Amino acid sequence: MIRVTITGSGTPIMVSGRAGPGVLVAVDEDVKLQFDAGRATTLRLTEAGVALPELTALFITHHHSDHLVGLSDLAMSWWLEHPATAARPLPVVAPDGEAANIAEHLLDVWQTEMRMRADHTGRPGPATISVQRFAAPQTPQEIFTVRDVRVSAVQVRHEPVTPAVAYRVDAADGSVVISGDTAVCPGLEEIATGATVLVQEAFRPDAVPAGLLSDPEALAAYHSEVGAVGEMAVRAGVGALMLTHLIPPPVSEEEKAGFVDDVRAAGYQGPVVVADDLNFVEVATRRPEEAAT
Ligand SMILES: [Zn+2]
Ligand SMILES: [Zn+2]
Repeated sequence: MIRVTITGSGTPIMVSGRAGPGVLVAVDEDVKLQFDAGRATTLRLTEAGVALPELTALFITHHHSDHLVGLSDLAMSWWLEHPATAARPLPVVAPDGEAANIAEHLLDVWQTEMRMRADHTGRPGPATISVQRFAAPQTPQEIFTVRDVRVSAVQVRHEPVTPAVAYRVDAADGSVVISGDTAVCPGLEEIATGATVLVQEAFRPDAVPAGLLSDPEALAAYHSEVGAVGEMAVRAGVGALMLTHLIPPPVSEEEKAGFVDDVRAAGYQGPVVVADDLNFVEVATRRPEEAAT
């Protein structure tokens, strides 16, 4: 079984109830892949019942701060809260570039504090992060495997932020694509083709209240207009859509329905979730006795 949990449906916009961007893809009981770590990711993982040592690896889509500010909290908690992982680096996978650089140096300013804690408590230390870099590919390429679960990545369009990638998880029960931040583009469509679930950032320019955004046109150039998402989902044969990284953040059921209406108007008829934090979907195509093997 695959369970896709939104650990944060927000953006840099501070709004009640929406943590920073993040998605957890759990495959059966033993593979847990976290994508991005925005603000309060560690708290949301705890609320989802996930202990940090259960994480297999953490993948970064790009180096915008809203996707990364929760990473130091996660790495420190991985070390401080859990004897099982105190001596083990937090495994991070990132495209070669600034995101990987940030992850490698993220804990630098905490070295003195961590050594003090280590000396005081006797735990091994300090906390460490191991970074597996990959060159952001122009067409989808496999960049990570664990058990029979394969993760691939592709460069997407989020300039001036480059590299920025989308990820795809393929497992026996299905496939999950995480768009990261991007305009709808050929790379995203290619990696999303045939996906069981597409976790997709979504932007509704017509719904943005006056004054909320400093430059709506600049945002439109590097985010995914929700109607274009619906059209792409039709072309790519996406099984279900989870819309997240919602701009503007909906604060009522009516505003959430607006995202669905735009996807439907574009012709997409599959299931659509306009995500709140901790919403999840499950994909199970195997019988329980098959999944147990
Ligand atoms: Zn973002
Ligand atoms: Zn971004």
